[in-house]
Amino acid sequence: MQDIHPVSLIGAGPGDPDLLTVKAARLLGQADVVVYDRLVSEAILDLAPDGATRIFAGKASRHHHMPQEDINELLATLALGGQKVVRLKGGDPFVFGRGSEEALHLAARGVPFEVVPGITAASGCTTYAGVPLTHRGLANGVRFVTGHRMGGHGLDLNWASLADPDTTLVIYMGLTNVAEISDKLMEHGMPRNLPVAAIQNGTTDKQRTVITTLADLPDCVASMSLKAPTLLVLGRVVGLAEDLDWRNPVVACDLEQAQA
Ligand code: SAH
Repeated sequence: MQDIHPVSLIGAGPGDPDLLTVKAARLLGQADVVVYDRLVSEAILDLAPDGATRIFAGKASRHHHMPQEDINELLATLALGGQKVVRLKGGDPFVFGRGSEEALHLAARGVPFEVVPGITAASGCTTYAGVPLTHRGLANGVRFVTGHRMGGHGLDLNWASLADPDTTLVIYMGLTNVAEISDKLMEHGMPRNLPVAAIQNGTTDKQRTVITTLADLPDCVASMSLKAPTLLVLGRVVGLAEDLDWRNPVVACDLEQAQA
């Protein structure tokens, strides 16, 4: 019987290839086939051997290239065919990455797997923007939520529990529903002037960090033409970026820009 290699579910980090773990780089360098998502950069894919097969699995919210069930089954089929399979996902595979769904499918099919954590956007993008997720006196905790809607209903978030100015709130995939996010949080008592950072293409050469307030956030997304991938970070810690923006300068939102 042919040897079955465990499928490696690997987090590629938020963009900067240097943020890849040593383990991720090693496994990638041994892959026969790499199944990758949209947010994985060319420079990281280049670490796979020249002869490795590269399969794009899409995964931009709203236009999934390949249905999730097909990706799940593809990984199982490739592994059962004796190939060394690397499943490469942006950030961390177990943070809003469906890595756990893929792992569950492999487990159900009896295919061995291993998971390599990656630096999730909440950690990488904020650090590169000069926003610490916690800071004594400003935030004593942090929450990661998704602003992506499943189906046509309102966002399924517990607004009352999220509206806590002592906890930094990180919102993945938040651009589309930014108006609802801003309204609901203010309705539940978050200050209108709470600092917010919108970090686009974090950790890459195209990183852009726009600073605004909770009340102005929706207009700011429009006037500054913010596009995915963008991470929203809400909390008093955002104010520290003025002094800690070591990578590239943060910019204040210009609400006039759209009308200009
Ligand atoms: N598993 C990934 C998240 C996938 S969801 C992780 O752990 O990071 C995709 C969302 O993550 C994007 O819509 C955006 O909100 C955020 N994101 C991922 N990479 C990003 C980047 N380089 N810059 C800004 N946001 C990013």
